[in-house]
Amino acid sequence: MVVQSMAKTDTRDASATIVQIRRLEEFGCQLVRVAVPDGEAAASIPTIKPLTSIPLIADIHFDYRLALLALQGGVDGLRLNPGNISDREQIKAVVLAAKERNVPIRIGVNAGSLPPTENKEQTIVERMVGSALEQIKLLESLDFDLIKVSLKAFDVPDTVAANRALAERMPYPIHLGITEAGTTKSGVIRSAVGIGILLHHGIGDTIRVSLSGDPCEEVSAGYEILKALDLSQRGPTLISCPSCGRTEVDIIGLANAVEERLSKLKKSIKVAVMGCVVNGPGEARDADVGIACGKGRGVIFRKGEQVRTVDEADFLTALMAEIDTF
Ligand code: SF4
Repeated sequence: MVVQSMAKTDTRDASATIVQIRRLEEFGCQLVRVAVPDGEAAASIPTIKPLTSIPLIADIHFDYRLALLALQGGVDGLRLNPGNISDREQIKAVVLAAKERNVPIRIGVNAGSLPPTENKEQTIVERMVGSALEQIKLLESLDFDLIKVSLKAFDVPDTVAANRALAERMPYPIHLGITEAGTTKSGVIRSAVGIGILLHHGIGDTIRVSLSGDPCEEVSAGYEILKALDLSQRGPTLISCPSCGRTEVDIIGLANAVEERLSKLKKSIKVAVMGCVVNGPGEARDADVGIACGKGRGVIFRKGEQVRTVDEADFLTALMAEIDTF
């Protein structure tokens, strides 16, 4: 399962784009897409490519010649939108150039930019699936099968229905995402629901959480979705209790402080921050390391076994020390 994101810099500014892609790499991003809106942006690709290490995908709309330029520049993948590039001869030119270089093409269908239709009866889901299948047929007729497909909408039920219908009708990998999902707060939930449902049905090979926010947040959210479904173990996982009337310490403050520290860790570890000694270790049985707090004191536990007791002032340091040695 591959987590991808998209650079938010102006691709014409190669230096800024390189800096952002390198940050994304540090966050574990495994594929990155860059917008190629014009020839100047395409001309940045040969500069960006050797200075970054994850596969680079060029996002192309309207003008097939930009796809040709991106391929010449050394991209590892193309995203074409059948809603705005549909001319057979143009697509043929791109497919031949991609085939020569063994570069895959994602057919990226968006509910907001579907090709026009005469059939007013068709639902948006049928139009999305139909548009993808038509483009697949065209690529296959050109003897090209390095295909990946995505069907994205803002509407979660539509995205789920479209992808389920598509998965039954073609064998290619599927890239999942909810398009224009929103800000970090609402977009993560919307994406987690849509992507999560599909992944749970065994559909999806790459994912992107589209957010109006820092692209690194997209990557973190992507991994959280995968971890919630046990599809990835990458990095730490925080289990923290919501706190309740039994809590006698600032558990919310502690959980946030631990999360902040964990965000810098790369190792795969489950950490629990629990508000009481009665239920804490039991409720966090799954955790590798944890703390269960009582009035002024806390019990540090490791794999469910209590290892030591610490004062409230030392909760964070003691827990982090335990995590470091785990
Ligand atoms: S772990 Fe304890 S303090 Fe936290 S919610 Fe459960 S019962 Fe309440």
